[in-house]
Amino acid sequence: MAQNRNFDLVIIGSGPGGYVAAIRAAQLKMNVAIIEREDVGGVCLNWGCIPTKALLKSAEVAHTIRRASEFGLKTGEVQVDFPAVIRRSRQVATRLSKGVEFLMKKNKVEVFKGTARFKDAKNVQIYDGAGKEIAEVQAERFLIATGARPRNLPGLELDGKKLISYREAMTLAERPQSMVIIGAGAIGVEFAYFYNAMGTKVSLLEMLPQILPLEDAEAVAIVHKVFQKSGIEVAVGAKVEKVEKTSQGIKVHGTTAQGAQVWEAEVGLVAVGVQANSDDMGLESIGVQTDRGFIKTDGTYRTNLPNIWAIGDVIGAPMLAHAASHEGIVAVEAMAGLPAHRIDPATVPSCTYCQPQVASVGLTEAKVKEKGLKYKVGRFPLSASGKATASGDREGLVKLIFDEKDGEMLGAHIVAAEATEMIAELGLAQTHGAIPLSIANTIHAHPTLSEAVMEAALDAMGRVIHI
Ligand code: NAD
Repeated sequence: MAQNRNFDLVIIGSGPGGYVAAIRAAQLKMNVAIIEREDVGGVCLNWGCIPTKALLKSAEVAHTIRRASEFGLKTGEVQVDFPAVIRRSRQVATRLSKGVEFLMKKNKVEVFKGTARFKDAKNVQIYDGAGKEIAEVQAERFLIATGARPRNLPGLELDGKKLISYREAMTLAERPQSMVIIGAGAIGVEFAYFYNAMGTKVSLLEMLPQILPLEDAEAVAIVHKVFQKSGIEVAVGAKVEKVEKTSQGIKVHGTTAQGAQVWEAEVGLVAVGVQANSDDMGLESIGVQTDRGFIKTDGTYRTNLPNIWAIGDVIGAPMLAHAASHEGIVAVEAMAGLPAHRIDPATVPSCTYCQPQVASVGLTEAKVKEKGLKYKVGRFPLSASGKATASGDREGLVKLIFDEKDGEMLGAHIVAAEATEMIAELGLAQTHGAIPLSIANTIHAHPTLSEAVMEAALDAMGRVIHI
């Protein structure tokens, strides 16, 4: 007999959106449950942000050892034990998933393992892997945080072996000799860096005019050059139309400005974006509105039904873990009647963890131009930074864009070894409407990469010191 339970709030999905919302709800004295069909922590902890960062750390270590002689050290040739690299990444993911399980217990959040389906707007049925109903939960409110899954190109069938998604890319049993990566968003770029460092011959194909198309063109140009120098074949303006399987692997057919092209490799990784996990949940039958699969919500993440809320990738852009967590907090606080801090998309940082890393907040220069705003730019190259030079990571740039009239920061772009750590300061600057002087007058420790941020602000005022 399926059990019947009642809660103040039931959250569907335990990724960084769902589990953070659950903890905040527990803090606000709600009786909370989470429904999750896989390991707790969602894609981020198990199949995304965290295990890829473990893989990328192995890539960085390999890269550093290869450069050992630059630092006066002698080593042998780097031997890649690929299964061990993968094993470490899986161990990291498991450890963090266990950590979230602990947090759920600590906060008395009940976790149901199964797939959720709305019976009506107040009741959700939970099914096990075999499709058997194991429980029914009733709740005052529901929060949908079911995330997204890889999108595919029309007519392409992923077989998990020759043609794979990010999921298989982080668990391959053997290192492929060659790989074509279709799509150069964050996933494509991070795996290009990783597999290249592992010794795989990588071709990275992007249909738009630049890799990381949402990032500032000047910042991306630096990464493009570094990638090419490290042996990655980067093709932009390369639209993939068809993939053929061959006895050795795959043949990718596409077009570039030069006309029709073919790329061959042992494995093809498809990284052309994601689609919302909003199907098969009974949403149509209860009348929750969606737009191309993404659930529609208002400023505090309430759907068109008064007791159902949605956050994270399932509601669409920015589709980033840290945005999902904040959306979860806003939604739960709004449910509790607290004044919610609304999220301004211009303050959500974006990070890509190749080397050099790319991080940004706010608008690109192209977007600022498109909006017809008058602006000034402050720049500081990492090659002029003492810390970057001492560390041997001189490739990079800090670029800050300010409104010419009131000095308000419009966008910040960093390419640097630690760009993803450096961007937090500029998120704070953006949130609090900083002007160049507020950044320039903040004393930055010497020697740090962050001094480049202060110098870029000084540059915007015509007062740069170290160039
Ligand atoms: P994406 O949408 O960011 O990038 C997909 C890329 O594929 C786009 O640049 C697109 O132009 C290109 N593309 C589409 N069709 C193509 C074709 N036929 N030929 C060639 N190129 C084509 O998606 P993604 O990189 O798959 O990532 C999925 C999601 O996961 C995104 O929301 C991303 O932000 C998120 N993510 C974030 C991080 C991070 O923050 N570090 C890391 C991984 C994933």
